[in-house]
Amino acid sequence: MTSQDAIAEAWDELVATARRTAAEGLVVGTSGNVSVRSGDLVLVTPSGVPYDRLGPGDTVAVDLSGRQVAGTLAPTSELPLHLAVYAGTDATAVVHTHAVHATAVSTLVAELPLIHYMAAAIGGPVRVAPYALYGSAELAENVLLALAGRTGCLLQNHGTVTYGTALSQAYDRTAQLEWMCELWLKASALPGREPHLLTGAQLDEVAVKLRGYGPTPR
Ligand code: 13P
Ligand code: ZN
Repeated sequence: MTSQDAIAEAWDELVATARRTAAEGLVVGTSGNVSVRSGDLVLVTPSGVPYDRLGPGDTVAVDLSGRQVAGTLAPTSELPLHLAVYAGTDATAVVHTHAVHATAVSTLVAELPLIHYMAAAIGGPVRVAPYALYGSAELAENVLLALAGRTGCLLQNHGTVTYGTALSQAYDRTAQLEWMCELWLKASALPGREPHLLTGAQLDEVAVKLRGYGPTPR
């Protein structure tokens, strides 16, 4: 496969992932953005373009410093955030959404309470990055700090960011995070009742067990 073919394939997968965020209700309209790293290139969704309008000819690529090297459409306004995640972690893919339950939680707490053991799949209690203007270097900085030791975080009054070693993994982490936020909101909504929470030690135990989780041949 030539590197051109590899880029075309990565772009198709990126567009499919971005469309999935809209189709599965994690964003509305042109909210959110997705990127994938291929060597020294980062493919990103363009700013303000509905995902169903994106085709194979719309590839937008930047280098790791943010210089545009392919495409005529402007990259996502959250490029500083995506590049900060690539610079500061081992990410190969980054997904940003405005998922509604996650965004609601981001307005209520500084950290998602340990309502479910799947927090261990994100690396531990999920932090909320303090609010900063969308697309700003300050937001990128806040997100990178909130991601320390985690593969996902919430953005106060804004949404979610998750990353992974593949687009499918980054996407799945967003879906799990949104599900956990919905769970916590529902469990804490009963008047006069407080949900039972897990301890850090219980989460550590899960983290160890999850290392062996997945399809296992007998
Ligand atoms: P873009 O359309 O520029 O990607 O912006 C959407 C967004 O979610 C900004 O935070
Ligand atoms: Zn956003």
